[in-house]
Amino acid sequence: MNEEKEWHVPVESDDYKLDNSRPLTIKERLEIYVKLTKQQRELIDAHRKYLIRSEFLKDNYLKASDWEFLDLKIDENYPNTIDEKNKLYCQCGRRLKYQYIVRSKATNQTMGLGIQHFKDHLNIPSQVAKEIVDRLNNVDFALDELLWLKRRGVEFPEGLWKSYAFFVYQNQFRKVPYDINVSLGRRFADFKEVEMPIYVSDYHEILREIEQLRIFHEPITHPIYNEENFRHFETNLVANIQQETLFHQASIWSSQIQKRIKTHQEQPSLPNHFFEEIVTILEKESPVREKELMLFANKGMGKWLQKEVYLHLLERVEANGLNEVTLNEIHPFMRDGLLSCIEKKEKTEAVTTSLEKIKTILSELDNESRETLMKQLKKEWQE
Ligand SMILES: [Zn+2]
Repeated sequence: MNEEKEWHVPVESDDYKLDNSRPLTIKERLEIYVKLTKQQRELIDAHRKYLIRSEFLKDNYLKASDWEFLDLKIDENYPNTIDEKNKLYCQCGRRLKYQYIVRSKATNQTMGLGIQHFKDHLNIPSQVAKEIVDRLNNVDFALDELLWLKRRGVEFPEGLWKSYAFFVYQNQFRKVPYDINVSLGRRFADFKEVEMPIYVSDYHEILREIEQLRIFHEPITHPIYNEENFRHFETNLVANIQQETLFHQASIWSSQIQKRIKTHQEQPSLPNHFFEEIVTILEKESPVREKELMLFANKGMGKWLQKEVYLHLLERVEANGLNEVTLNEIHPFMRDGLLSCIEKKEKTEAVTTSLEKIKTILSELDNESRETLMKQLKKEWQE
């Protein structure tokens, strides 16, 4: 790839320095929130739930108590909600914007509560209830960061994404790839999908991740490593990053083999006919292809690899066909096995086609000319 220089690690953007940030007021939060797209609001809400769940898990008292956090419901139109079924209430009948659903581990009973009434309805000490309120407020502060960036007009860092995608792509061609932080990558992809600015801490995490990927830099000379294939890889990375087995070397193998890898020196390998069989299956028509590949995955050596490796392969072939684009988006082990198999097949086919052409030419000549021609060719190739 000649234009590698383009992908140098971007310098830290001033956008992601939050020196003068402060917690937002409820009114400010609402003002920014209503300007978000539906997808952006869904992302923020998903993160809110995730953060609440982890706050609940962090608290020892809550962890030991009978109650666990189940869900958070939000009445976006509060207090102007018209439809009765969209209104949210506390146990005591008070209207709510945020309703926390908690569940009793002992009885499985669920309860919807407002933040101020944890103490009354859950029968917990007031000190603990106060602690919960503080923790839930922390969640708001964490999300404020995103809203604050949004208000300042900061966008999703496209340049950083490109750079990240490039080094992840390159990593897939290393002899010993670096184990990327997949959950960080997924969060990055989720934010890219809805074009939201990312957490400041994630911004710095991604910079560090790129730095790690760069340390192992080595020149790559792989037949399908090129700029065009990178473009496809980058476009599809948002979806492909969900694929666990794609970015961790060992995770492609069945759990039994993974256990073996931990205690043995030699790396597992698979014979050529394993890949040949897969190529033959993938060249078939769609419904047959799927059926046969699943059969293959469930018997003999097919079972050495995780089922999701086949499902991902199948899904990519359905989308792009069995070509370089697909090969770029599957696990390196599978990619290289299939690639050498396809190359071999193409060579054989080329020989067959050439032979047919020569036969046609020869059939137009008389015996004597044929003999002369053959002799001359033989002589030329022997010299
Ligand atoms: Zn209440």
